Amino acid sequence: MTKNENVKNQDTLQDPTTQYPQPPFPRQPQDAPGTVHKMQPAPDHGETTYQGSGRLRGRKALITGGDSGIGRAAAIAYAREGADVAISYLPSEETDAQEVIKLIEEAGQKAVALPGDISDESFCQQLVADAVSKLGGLDILVNNAGKQTAIEAIADVTTEQFDATFKTNVYALFWITKAAMPHLKPGASIIVTSSIQAAQPSPNLLDYAQTKACGVAFTQALAQQVAEKGIRVNAVAPGPVWTPLQPSGGQPQDSIEKFGSEVPMKRPGQPAEFGPLYVYLASQESSYSTGAVFAATGGMLMV
Ligand code: NAD
Ligand code: MG
Repeated sequence: MTKNENVKNQDTLQDPTTQYPQPPFPRQPQDAPGTVHKMQPAPDHGETTYQGSGRLRGRKALITGGDSGIGRAAAIAYAREGADVAISYLPSEETDAQEVIKLIEEAGQKAVALPGDISDESFCQQLVADAVSKLGGLDILVNNAGKQTAIEAIADVTTEQFDATFKTNVYALFWITKAAMPHLKPGASIIVTSSIQAAQPSPNLLDYAQTKACGVAFTQALAQQVAEKGIRVNAVAPGPVWTPLQPSGGQPQDSIEKFGSEVPMKRPGQPAEFGPLYVYLASQESSYSTGAVFAATGGMLMV
């Protein structure tokens, strides 16, 4: 990407409270897993702004849920930092995914599209095998795909939902990371997308909040296990972020109208605000950090 001094980007000094849209937002129901194209206002994944500087030159990355939201922002940033990138997503998300594939290729990097359902163990194993063979190795694993369905009362949380949420957010994390481990060399980085929900569970996210706490414990345990191999494992804990996960059943629509108003910055985060953090954790710049949880919550406390 050529430098344009008029474009505000991750290097521009600006007031973070007014940097991006604030609520109220229109009600905008869509079916899970959702698409970025039905979101109003449109989310920013850094498409027109993220400027790389070679931080990940020559690396090979697999990002689950790389079609949209936080995963899309990470994919764009990684490619512009010089990494080849494979993205996983559900087959119904092909349109969103192909846009990301195009953006990775426009950055001059190899892009690999790996559709499939990570709630299936054999698919998770195939996913890692395909990513490794098509990229020619693996240095960065971003376990980012997630399922979130808001339900008011425990009586209405079905076993099917509970099971699907845990399969997607917890089991897949285990299956994919286990399959990736033999391919990772010293310097490799594993990143887990957890949530503020790990520390401050919402009453209507009973199953989801538990899975995000699992992600923190997984990160902390595995980081200690593999530190001597030179492999680092860290988690990111986002606050509310403007992604399809939320209007497609992650929140009730009345919460979408005021989404982000509960945090000190009074607005949701945009995926573009996560690209640089995922780059930092993947790169050698964070060489002394492992087993850590990096919060980006608009000011909500991770206590
Ligand atoms: P998103 O909807 O853009 O991304 C989630 C992705 O998960 C989907 O695009 C989909 O490709 C993938 N996915 C879901 N179920 C899958 C399955 N069975 N098989 C394969 N892929 C599947 O939303 P996002 O907010 O960017 O979500 C990314 C991560 O961020 C999730 O782990 C989510 O829990 C976490 N998170 C989001 C928020 C938020 O407010 N948006 C806050 C904290 C944490
Ligand atoms: Mg998606």
